Order: sequence, then structure tokens, then C-alpha cells
Amino acid sequence: MFNSRFMPCTECGDSVDQASDSPHQCSPERRADYQMFGLRDEVAQLQTAVEGYLGTAAGRFETWLAARQVRATG
Ligand SMILES: [Zn+2]
Repeated sequence: MFNSRFMPCTECGDSVDQASDSPHQCSPERRADYQMFGLRDEVAQLQTAVEGYLGTAAGRFETWLAARQVRATG
């Protein structure tokens, strides 16, 4: 299946030469970018879930309660 000697690094997504003698080292910036990129679907799903929840009666109550608490402390 995978005959390529280059495989993507699971940490940073960089293509790593499997035949290379020198071990791959992740670039911190690249790894952070890659992991944020990997999380974007989860972030989008969370946002959709929160918006869906806020549309329910319980969510509207919590929104009201939160606003009330903000006013009380402010
Ligand atoms: Zn890497």
C-alpha cells in the first residue's frame, strides 16, 4: 500500500524520510500549526453543539442566568 519512503509525521505533519539516518525532529511552530489544524473540526463541532444547546429551553435559561450573574457582579 504505502511504498513511499516519505511518511507524514504524526506530531507535526511534516513528511519524514523513512530511509534517512538522521531522526526527524519536529519544529515547534510546525507542530503547533499542525495540531491546531487537526483540532479545527472539533472546534467547529463544539461551536455547533454549544449553539444547538443554547437554542434549547435549558440553554436559554442558562444564558439568562449567566447574564443575570454578570449584571449582579458588575
Ligand atoms: Zn514531526
